[in-house]
Amino acid sequence: MGEKDYDPVMHTAEHLVNGTIARMLGCGRAFSTHIEKKKSKCDFRFPRNLTPEELERVEQTVNSQIAAKLGVRDELLSPDEAGARYSLERLPEGAESVRIVHIGDYDACPCIGSHVTNTAEIPPVSIISSDCTDGVLRVRFKFRKN
Ligand SMILES: [Zn+2]
Repeated sequence: MGEKDYDPVMHTAEHLVNGTIARMLGCGRAFSTHIEKKKSKCDFRFPRNLTPEELERVEQTVNSQIAAKLGVRDELLSPDEAGARYSLERLPEGAESVRIVHIGDYDACPCIGSHVTNTAEIPPVSIISSDCTDGVLRVRFKFRKN
């Protein structure tokens, strides 16, 4: 964490975008994220760019989860329990417990950040663009404005 303009609303939206892409592509979650209030991006290890149809499917899937008004809750696990179920490479070592952040039954991942308590607090998301360079797929998104 520690990004400028760190925003729990945008950060929770990032969980949904991140988890949706990881699930759709089978590529694992982003190895790097940049969260800003206006615009954010996630970098995945993936060998090609996404098609417009795939980007649209990501956007529709994320927005359907937002519209479903899913509750966001924390679960504390021992590092061993957490390590058996989740990738812990982005968390600090030596922690006595690991916090798993659940978004309904849709998404779960270890995170120490701040989140909204319900996806109803998140505006609809717009996937702006993506590109792929040297095996890094970058996906940019923002909140849709009417
Ligand atoms: Zn988080």
